[in-house]
Amino acid sequence: MGKIVIAIDGYSGCGKSSTAKALAKNLGYTYIDSGAMYRAATLHFLNENLSLSSEDEVRRGLDSLEISFRINPETGLQETYLNGRNVEDEIRSMHISQKVSELATVASIRKELVAQQQRLGRGKGVVMDGRDIGSVVFPTAELKVFMTANLKTRAKRRQLELLEKGQSVDLIDIEENLANRDEVDSSRTESPLMKMPDAEEVDTSDLTLEEQVAKIILLAKAKIKMN
Ligand code: C5P
Repeated sequence: MGKIVIAIDGYSGCGKSSTAKALAKNLGYTYIDSGAMYRAATLHFLNENLSLSSEDEVRRGLDSLEISFRINPETGLQETYLNGRNVEDEIRSMHISQKVSELATVASIRKELVAQQQRLGRGKGVVMDGRDIGSVVFPTAELKVFMTANLKTRAKRRQLELLEKGQSVDLIDIEENLANRDEVDSSRTESPLMKMPDAEEVDTSDLTLEEQVAKIILLAKAKIKMN
């Protein structure tokens, strides 16, 4: 059976990453977290004190940016590396969450990261999650999923995730951050977040992680059979 490309897009905190990871594991596919790339780029620009409004500095930032993913042999989980350094925890902090959507509006940065994402997915058998995967990165993906969930549910899930990482954040701050990122991500000129006409919409508000994964596995298996 031929391998396919699966694009999962949607609002912040809908459980895209957890779903995409579980789906990739079930199918034996590669999982790529495109949001982690925007987050790592944000950390890099902050660390290097580079301005997003200077073309020169953006170019310098991109020239010195190297993002990779490696599997942690102890946990079996994929972790993000920035210029050879493990930044998995750092890029999930609220500080980066508050800055990332601004960086994601910069056309030249998107162009570079999209090219890297397309190279990573070239061999098919890939599940990638983000905001523009079905529209820009893989417009011909065999399966496109658009995930949604109400804001309260998303904020509660994100709060739990942060707590598990030892970060205690007020629900209201998380809600504000998610709503703000939704707004910036959906209204930017460059590759805004939108539901493609050929995407399957999955509302996860009342679904457990297991239920949402099971639902998308069914969609994926049907597409794989047709392929
Ligand atoms: O997926 P995650 O919430 O980690 O993504 C962080 C941010 O990166 C998003 O809010 C969005 O601004 C940006 N992003 C994007 N395009 C993608 C993935 C993420 O603009 N494909």
